Amino acid sequence: MIAAEKDLNAVSELGHWDVERIRRDFPVLHQTVNGKPLAYLDNAASSQVPQLVIERGTRYLREEHSNIHRGVHYLSQRATSAYEGAREKVRRFINAREARECIFVRGATEGINLVMHGYGRKFVGPGDEIVISEMEHHANIVPWQMLCEEKGARLRVIPMNDAGELLLDEYEALLNERTKIVAVTHVSNALGTVNPIKEIVRIAHARGIPVLVDGAQAAPHLPIDVQDLDCDFYAISGHKMFGPTGSGVLYGKAELLERMNPFMGGGDMIRSVTFERTIYAGLPNKFEAGTPAIASQIGLGAAIDYLNSIDRAAAYAYEQELLRYATERLSSIEGVRVIGTAREKASVISFTVENVHPHDIGTILDQEGIAIRAGHHCAQPVMQHFKIPATARASFAFYNTKEEVDRLAAAIEKVIEVFN
Ligand code: PMP
Repeated sequence: MIAAEKDLNAVSELGHWDVERIRRDFPVLHQTVNGKPLAYLDNAASSQVPQLVIERGTRYLREEHSNIHRGVHYLSQRATSAYEGAREKVRRFINAREARECIFVRGATEGINLVMHGYGRKFVGPGDEIVISEMEHHANIVPWQMLCEEKGARLRVIPMNDAGELLLDEYEALLNERTKIVAVTHVSNALGTVNPIKEIVRIAHARGIPVLVDGAQAAPHLPIDVQDLDCDFYAISGHKMFGPTGSGVLYGKAELLERMNPFMGGGDMIRSVTFERTIYAGLPNKFEAGTPAIASQIGLGAAIDYLNSIDRAAAYAYEQELLRYATERLSSIEGVRVIGTAREKASVISFTVENVHPHDIGTILDQEGIAIRAGHHCAQPVMQHFKIPATARASFAFYNTKEEVDRLAAAIEKVIEVFN
């Protein structure tokens, strides 16, 4: 038995992580695809939803559905209290000081765009600089590029090494009196790298520069404490953390959010409107124009209830063992190259297979009932760094198993056989 396999068994033997019991919470996992049991290894794109979240969504639609905030009637008050209750769950989950610092958005993309419009368009001018990193998702590149184009500002990029780790000395050297914001990912979706966010924030704050953290890939795995990180903004997507699509949060420090412009104008974000002048509402409503995704955000609250009900430290340890095991299995296959070998990684493994396009890998794996993702993962600069067009990517959640990793490795061996 190889070492990683032994460790993995130890986790379950000790009773810390009963993966079979956890799998029963996720109905979607129990189906066959192309005649094979589904092995869902595409969690970095969207994770699956537990029964608790499904039931909470159903209860909302059956018993509580109504528009929020403006209604005086019973159903509206119930929907409002469920929606605001979800906000309080988010606050505790990320340890924000106040619930009004948690803005409901459709996902990380919308959260980052909110900061670009609300903060960037107000405070960034010609000649100013915005610092991002080489491993960002397009969601944390394109909005800043749009801003630079509009304002005549300049995008600066923190480079990474070939393991997929950011070069912090170079980062520090990039910062200067023109830097208006630093925007970096907590965990890379293409490489799995976990970045030293606390250190990144400390370095920026020493120069008075605010930091936005793209937490889309961190929230499903790591404990998030925005006060401890001391970041100024933190964006998350509900559908990557066992909640519904259309849910997400942009955390921002109240004093910054208060100084920012609203992102969108419309109902619910105002205190008063005349044709001469509109006075905006306070936080968080100032940033939540129109009818929000009420059912989705209530579902996100339920996903947080679910995460609070499990032993997250044990879940993380288990995921780390899965990652270690998968890395060992895949690296030992001739022709497989693992892309992203940082010392600190979350459970994402990107790889290429010699002479086979990642899309072909994905298609053949699908025939085996194995769901992975193939492509540039909305991180084309990462592909450019490694001089490859795309990777295949398996990403694990705490409901995946060692057997699924074995099936993945066997299917890759089959791919190599077919193409050679
Ligand atoms: N950032 C990262 C690191 C991501 O992985 C993703 C989703 N792949 C996003 C941002 C965008 O998230 P969403 O599509 O939920 O807005």
